[in-house]
Amino acid sequence: MTTRRQVKSDKLQSRIRGEVLVPGDAGYDDARRVWNAMIDRQPAVIVRCREAADVAPAIAFARESGLELSIRGGGHHIAGHSVSDGGLMIDFSGMKNVAVDSGTRRASVQPGATLADFDRAVQLHALATPVGINSTTGIAGLTLGGGFGWLTREYGMTIDNLLAADVVAADGKLLRASEKDHPDLFWAIRGGGGNFGVVTQFEFKLHPLGPSVFAGLIVFPLREAKEVLAQYREFVESAPAELNVWAVLRQAPPLPFLPQDVHGTEVVVLAVFFDGNARDGERLIQPLRRFGNVLGEHVGLMLYTQWEQSFDPLLTPGFRNYWKSHNFTRISDGLLDTILEFAGKLPSPHCEIFVGLLAGAANEVPPEATAYNARDARFVINVHGRWENAKQDHDGIAWSRAFFQAAAPYASSGAYINFMTADEGERVTAAYGPNYARLLEIKQRYDPENIFHLNQNISASQQARGKTAQRRSA
Ligand SMILES: Cc1cc2nc3c(=O)[nH]c(=O)nc-3n(C[C@H](O)[C@H](O)[C@H](O)COP(=O)(O)OP(=O)(O)OC[C@H]3O[C@@H](n4cnc5c(N)ncnc54)[C@H](O)[C@@H]3O)c2cc1C
Repeated sequence: MTTRRQVKSDKLQSRIRGEVLVPGDAGYDDARRVWNAMIDRQPAVIVRCREAADVAPAIAFARESGLELSIRGGGHHIAGHSVSDGGLMIDFSGMKNVAVDSGTRRASVQPGATLADFDRAVQLHALATPVGINSTTGIAGLTLGGGFGWLTREYGMTIDNLLAADVVAADGKLLRASEKDHPDLFWAIRGGGGNFGVVTQFEFKLHPLGPSVFAGLIVFPLREAKEVLAQYREFVESAPAELNVWAVLRQAPPLPFLPQDVHGTEVVVLAVFFDGNARDGERLIQPLRRFGNVLGEHVGLMLYTQWEQSFDPLLTPGFRNYWKSHNFTRISDGLLDTILEFAGKLPSPHCEIFVGLLAGAANEVPPEATAYNARDARFVINVHGRWENAKQDHDGIAWSRAFFQAAAPYASSGAYINFMTADEGERVTAAYGPNYARLLEIKQRYDPENIFHLNQNISASQQARGKTAQRRSA
């Protein structure tokens, strides 16, 4: 029997060059699957775009059929807004092209590209721009929320390196957004997430890098974490911007450079990245080895693309994840004690507390220059709740929330929308601080009906809920 929706989606197929998938079609289940296994949703229609021109008919079809619209870049966001039950998903997994102009040091990137796709293409020219630390993450969502990684201390957030973007607005028009064209839209998409339209192309500026970098891991026992982290916070104060060091507290994975009896024990890991030669790298990181008793280390020259994939085995898709995140200007003693307390009661072998260092170029941009405004954030600390089956949900979520609450008194203002779970809608207003009013005004101009609402939504009603929540917690 042919359903009315099928007839209509056949009509949609005739208007696009990509593929229209409905439940039961080959490839439908793969297309609806996202990174976080806690999200298991069945959209009515998936539009797997092949070109930018496929987007406007998909938006029009969603409007005509009253289908909720979601947009999938790399499908990595923890909240899973890229897929909805009974909605229409615009899926960019068929648009991953990265074109590099090495002369002008620019890259044009399609929205389905992962960080691995991006890095591979730009590294052929020994070029790079700051992106995240897990290569299967999508460039689209990462950029629209802000984006930070190993190169952020040196070159700023991903958005600080965005030169332009092509955006299909709610009315189906394809707009160029840059400092020159639709500058308000360009301001808003640099941190405002998927609220303003569907990005079909990003243009980034690139910087010379590699192809080899000096990077690796140094591992200490968790019982020494207090001394290690106390020395870490002193060390990073005077470290040059080319050097980045993140800290991870978790159970040791079975890494070949660690003795077998260390595998599965609780450790603190310093992840070291240096954009420079091995001699300078060695000299700079030498003090780190004296922070405690090193259980094992693997640091040296490696390809940047290799380093960008080194955390992938710990962050594979298919696990259940509940993450929380705060920004910090400093690691106070109270925060340090909180980190240690919760690292000492990990509810699963896959859970971890992650200390990311941003201090540097990202802090030099004025907070009103882009929608992302947490320019005082020098550290981002995440609690990565991660486990295998639904029976562990209660304990994992409770641990993540309890850490988040205990760390809150030490956090700075603002928040990173790219790490917000679906139940944090009320936090969005506070995340943007004084920039929220301008975001709301731009939202009303480009998407007055809020058809792009499956995201960390910017809307008057969300703002009212946020204000009530702030009053409640005051
Ligand atoms: C394992 C892991 C590691 C991470 N590491 C980092 C890190 O090092 N640094 C960092 O900054 N972040 C990091 N993140 C967070 C990451 O930036 C966000 O999850 C981001 O949203 C992922 O983008 P995506 O395209 O893969 O996600 P998706 O889930 O596909 O998209 C997220 C949202 O972005 C919007 N969106 C996506 N594509 C488009 C588009 N083309 N047009 C308009 N809107 C769009 C939609 O609202 C969508 O719901 C990490 C996340 C995970 C799960």
